[in-house]
Amino acid sequence: MAPPSPPLMLTTGPVTAYPEVSEALSRPILYDGDDAFRGYYAQVLAMLGRVMGLSTPPVILQGEAILGIEAAAAGLIGPKDVVLNLVSGVYGQGFGRYALRAGAEVIELAVPFDAAIDPADVARSLRARPDIGVVAVCHHDTPSGTLNPLADIGAVVAAHGALLIVDAVSSFGGMEVFPEAVAADLFITSPAKCLGGTPGLSLLGVSDRAWAKMRANPQAPRGSFLSLLDWQDVIEDGRTFPVTPSIAEIYGLEAALARHLAEGERAVWARHALTARATRAGILALGLALWPTSEALCSPTTTAIRIPDGLSDKALRDHARDRSGVLLSLGRGATAGKVLRIGHMGPAAQPDHALRAVAALAAAASAQGLAVDRPAGESAVRAVIDGM
Ligand SMILES: *Cc1c(COP(=O)(O)O)cnc(C)c1O
Repeated sequence: MAPPSPPLMLTTGPVTAYPEVSEALSRPILYDGDDAFRGYYAQVLAMLGRVMGLSTPPVILQGEAILGIEAAAAGLIGPKDVVLNLVSGVYGQGFGRYALRAGAEVIELAVPFDAAIDPADVARSLRARPDIGVVAVCHHDTPSGTLNPLADIGAVVAAHGALLIVDAVSSFGGMEVFPEAVAADLFITSPAKCLGGTPGLSLLGVSDRAWAKMRANPQAPRGSFLSLLDWQDVIEDGRTFPVTPSIAEIYGLEAALARHLAEGERAVWARHALTARATRAGILALGLALWPTSEALCSPTTTAIRIPDGLSDKALRDHARDRSGVLLSLGRGATAGKVLRIGHMGPAAQPDHALRAVAALAAAASAQGLAVDRPAGESAVRAVIDGM
């Protein structure tokens, strides 16, 4: 039985993988204990380290990025820790649960989900509680469509001496953000968003300081799917894999990384940024509003639209899918029912798709009786794409 063929997926992840990735998934499965696979795996790790700009070896965990985020919390955080959790959306909020589960005291610094964290507030929180040893932040909280000023937050946290955990699942690869440049100690991303791969792996950058803290944490998982230390043994000591790697997913990751490098990271970022800019211009020209309070907060990988009063997010989504063949994402958690999201990630980050999305949304809004200026929306998109 074949799955139904998808409409044009302008979703916020997973995305339609690049064709090279789909092809790579069908390569013959190798035996993970054989040197042929181990050599290949080491090369993929090196490639991932290059793409992530890391000076330490990256870690790959065998499950979609929530696994990496949970593993980061479980490994790094212990009962004696005081954690500052920065919350600007659903994912940031969710991280607090993992920190609490590790037994830590969790202090939350939250902003409304259409706003961004102010680094000055982070500095104030750290001054108020000098015993804060770990700070966690979601760079692009996808259900909000907003970016936090990660480099500035990283500098404040580094000056305080705390360790920084960064969820960069939906920003890494689609814009300029690197673990070491933002002083992240644990940096988690996924192949299934801006890298245009498949959902099935967590990709992590881990600093030497983070490894030291994990080794000193008696509670850090060992012999567990959540264990990062088990994988460090593979990387550093050449031990056998703690579990069978998802061989096909590693092939897919390699293809996604190779594509990213071949296109060139700057070209990939520019494609994401232009698509998002064109989409925002079109949405505003239609007469709709963006969810973030300022365009400066908008992510180049997601455009979140504020649902106008009286309209249904699901009816808009369904109309776009069924009549225009464009699949969009709904809000999530606290933004559910309030936003509709257009993803610009990996293969979906094509300026021409901005036109498809804006046209689909115009038709869907009209069908619900909202007057929108479709020609103005479309020409605003074209003007951005044509550089006018
Ligand atoms: C997609 C995403 C994740 C991974 O979560 P899933 O629910 O497994 O997709 C984590 N953090 C952010 C910010 C994401 O966008």
